[in-house]
Amino acid sequence: MRVFRTIAECRLWRQALDGDLGVVPTMGYLHDGHMSLVRAARGDNAHVAATIFVNPTQFGPNEDLARYPRDEERDLALLRGAGVDAVFAPSAAEMYPDGFSTCVPVEGLAARLEGASRPTHFRGVTTVVAKLLNITAPRRAYFGQKDAQQLAVIRRMVRDLDINTEVVAMPIVREPDGLAMSSRNVYLSPDERKAAHVLCLSLSLAERMYDEAERDATTIRDAMRALIAKQPLADIDYVSIADPGTLDELDVVDRDALVSLAVRFGTTRLIDNTLLRAP
Ligand code: AMP
Repeated sequence: MRVFRTIAECRLWRQALDGDLGVVPTMGYLHDGHMSLVRAARGDNAHVAATIFVNPTQFGPNEDLARYPRDEERDLALLRGAGVDAVFAPSAAEMYPDGFSTCVPVEGLAARLEGASRPTHFRGVTTVVAKLLNITAPRRAYFGQKDAQQLAVIRRMVRDLDINTEVVAMPIVREPDGLAMSSRNVYLSPDERKAAHVLCLSLSLAERMYDEAERDATTIRDAMRALIAKQPLADIDYVSIADPGTLDELDVVDRDALVSLAVRFGTTRLIDNTLLRAP
């Protein structure tokens, strides 16, 4: 497995390839959610590359950039074991040299939900993903449904900018108790870790209400909020039931709907979601 630190080396490798390349962008500290994307990429493509880059521009000034967990040696061993051909792991200076002054904001979609709490987050994400797709020029790029809004924003950017890459979405991988895997779960204290179970319980409640023919979005949101509020360590940021394409909040669940939420446990902010499918 090759490991590239510079854009030039990565490009040279890319240009010599015959056959499809699949790319999995990550911020490292890999878990089975990331590895499910790698496995899918391995199955679909002649060549697979992963990127590891803790992208400073997608973190707000009071967010966890400095303490974001890192373990590159372990990540490289996991990727090697999964048959990845190359890893692009640049420094921040390589990606954002002096004088860097361009960004790729996606209007509208990126201002909702996560964007309301984290106003500069998505333009950091779309800028770095645009750069990574330009550098690696993959036939396919793999993203997790775990970050449902990120996926919608990236799909919109790829479509709007005619980027010649197919965006492939993969399902959320969960811990045995249902907590969505996330690099940030390591921040949770044992009590917070137990409390965080309420995220998937509230999503299951929404699914059950929907299956039992409840179609009033406010009734479902309120029931989810009431369930989460019973957990004293949980502090709700948002609970949303929205159109999965536009992220417009729904009054009536009369089509496919994305149920998503962000909840703080101490200093750790977790997100999760589920899709309600129209019958
Ligand atoms: P990150 O390293 O957190 O930026 O995540 C890199 C990619 O892995 C993104 O496309 C995420 O949506 C995806 N991902 C993270 N956690 C999970 C999970 N639990 N299940 C599936 N995909 C995930």
